[in-house]
Amino acid sequence: MNSYDVLIVGGGSAGLAAAVVLARSLRSVLVIDAGSPRNAPADGAHNVLGHEGISPLDLLATGRTEALSYGAEIRSADAVAVRGLDASDPGGEDRFELDLSDGTTVRGRRLLLTTGLTDVLPDIPGVREGWGHDVLHCPYCHGWEVRGRRIGVIGTGPMAGHVTLLLRNLSDRVTLFAHAMPPLDPQDRARLDALGVEVVDGPVRELARAEGGVRAVVLADGREFPVEAVAVAPRLVANADLYTALGGTLAENPMGVYIPVDPMGRTEVAGVWAAGNVADLSSMVVASAAAGVMAGAQINAELVRVDADLAVERAVPAAG
Ligand SMILES: Cc1cc2nc3c(=O)[nH]c(=O)nc-3n(C[C@H](O)[C@H](O)[C@H](O)COP(=O)(O)OP(=O)(O)OC[C@H]3O[C@@H](n4cnc5c(N)ncnc54)[C@H](O)[C@@H]3O)c2cc1C
Repeated sequence: MNSYDVLIVGGGSAGLAAAVVLARSLRSVLVIDAGSPRNAPADGAHNVLGHEGISPLDLLATGRTEALSYGAEIRSADAVAVRGLDASDPGGEDRFELDLSDGTTVRGRRLLLTTGLTDVLPDIPGVREGWGHDVLHCPYCHGWEVRGRRIGVIGTGPMAGHVTLLLRNLSDRVTLFAHAMPPLDPQDRARLDALGVEVVDGPVRELARAEGGVRAVVLADGREFPVEAVAVAPRLVANADLYTALGGTLAENPMGVYIPVDPMGRTEVAGVWAAGNVADLSSMVVASAAAGVMAGAQINAELVRVDADLAVERAVPAAG
């Protein structure tokens, strides 16, 4: 069975950035990646300093090349099951075992989860078809591309008022469709009214699409509102099955569910770390990569410390 210092599950920005820092620290690293980064549907990744607008898949291909160049290994597979080994062993032995979808089993001393999250989209016909193109979730990722256009925001949760205000900063033709959102915070309501944002009550039935993209928001009562882009706030659910299988508990905020970590990426489960969207629902590409670098560096530091302590134990002659 193959054994590594660190098993990284997830080869997006967070996982690959961690792999680079760990491999540059001469750690044996295996990245297991199912190959579905969250932003795959988007044409370009924005706010990525030095690579503004790069294709998300090209960015990760470069990251993989960089990680491989320092000796990291990358396996295209799903990690389908995890087992904790002897957690009482503080030393250098393997503590985790993963079953992969290619039929193999691998072991590692530390486990880093960079599995990202799932965007749970509202069940409205037309949303999935435009996702990542003219149906957007993040004013920072794609707002500039739709600046000045007629934008409809579909209210699906408590963040809708906030997202509408961010988009209103980019266009003076924004409409909020209350759909399934809770009542607007009175302060947000006053702000939207003052900025001329119409708030339309009633459930949305579908997004009507034409050749060039989304054409209109259609309400259940048949009314149609022309739009050129739509924003929705999906519920964000961390891909955390492996973590809960190890006994970890998830945390929740108004955006969704995530793995709680300390500022270094350490979870409550000994030996398990998490970085990127799985631990921070709002982190974009660069922040996810930064969290991966931090977690990778801290895992290396922990292994250095553990191995040095073992060396001390072995060096001290047994008393008596
Ligand atoms: C449509 C869209 C557009 C976006 N545009 C931008 C943008 O322009 N700029 C920006 O900064 N951010 C953007 N984002 C946010 C960006 O996608 C995230 O910040 C980033 O992908 C988080 O990186 P990550 O490594 O945490 O997760 P991901 O990139 O999602 O990578 C997780 C990886 O783990 C793999 N995985 C999951 N479970 C397993 C498993 N059990 N076994 C093996 N592999 C597994 C997945 O297949 C995936 O490859 C966008 C998001 C969306 C939805």
